[in-house]
Amino acid sequence: MTSERQDELVVIALGGNALQRYGQRGTFEEQLENARVTAKQIVRLIRRGYRVVITHGNGPQVGAILLQQELASEQVPPMPLHACGAMSQGLIGYMIQQSLINELRAQGMEVPVATVITQVLVREDDPAFKNPTKFVGPWFSEEMAKKKMAEGWLMKYDVGKGWRRVVPSPDPIAQVEVEAIRRMVNSGIVVIASGGGGVPVVEKMGELRGVDAVIDKDLAGERLATLLGANLFVILTDVEKVALNYKKPNEVLLDVMNDEEAERYYREGHFPPGNMGPKVLASIRFVRNGGRMAIITKLDKLLEALDGKTGTRIVPK
Ligand code: ADP
Ligand code: MG
Repeated sequence: MTSERQDELVVIALGGNALQRYGQRGTFEEQLENARVTAKQIVRLIRRGYRVVITHGNGPQVGAILLQQELASEQVPPMPLHACGAMSQGLIGYMIQQSLINELRAQGMEVPVATVITQVLVREDDPAFKNPTKFVGPWFSEEMAKKKMAEGWLMKYDVGKGWRRVVPSPDPIAQVEVEAIRRMVNSGIVVIASGGGGVPVVEKMGELRGVDAVIDKDLAGERLATLLGANLFVILTDVEKVALNYKKPNEVLLDVMNDEEAERYYREGHFPPGNMGPKVLASIRFVRNGGRMAIITKLDKLLEALDGKTGTRIVPK
């Protein structure tokens, strides 16, 4: 594994679709198969000599786990949302690490891989607790959504896809386990961390306590990338490039934007909260905090995007 990229640390944020595609039911087999496809791409990166830290979303999975808690509550005590977040980290980390290990072995590479259950500090008085915006779980028809909302769910319309439950999504401050992750990375371990944006915790008189929310994995990914001093932050989702006037007749796909341009487009409302908004915001923060470049693209375009051939690059001005 000799390469000019040996010192390059890249944090990769995997979108929900990297494990559960829109339209899939989310069976274990489906998710594992998606994890395999994802692992293939990531191993190509490791082969090139990049040091890699992986983070991932958990929207579909944590929503499903939450629903299971509610449906089984008469027989098994339901776990709170933050504990569901930890469960989703374990489940998804397991699938990704097994797929990575299998793919590395198939290619004759001996690289250790491990998942770190990660807590992320948030502010107890974060305004997000009063205004839930984060989509979790399956998409519902309008009719079903009305029923669920009557039962007390907070739901919003995910444009073009359907109705979905929303939960508070506070701004991440830092990964509690960042020092453990750093030491693992420095010793050559491929680390999967801060899954699902991390388990949100508040600190009170020195003690950590879980809170019911789901942190955006892109914003948490920026924190991880910045705190680890990563050179590159790559956000993999289901679009190859970020667009202005998305899905409108005057749509324009972006190859590159600097942080000031990105901020202007963000303010103009091109990137909605809950999907593209936090990706662009996380990218702006990353380059303003010293990162060299953030890239937003599709999973199967990962290497091409790193070579500058596709994707949307966000760079410092
Ligand atoms: P992930 O699971 O990868 O985080 P999201 O659904 O949260 O995916 O965000 C990606 C989605 O953002 C795309 O599928 C697309 O529908 C939507 N989107 C909204 N605005 C834009 C835009 N300006 N450019 C590209 N995609 C956009
Ligand atoms: Mg998302």
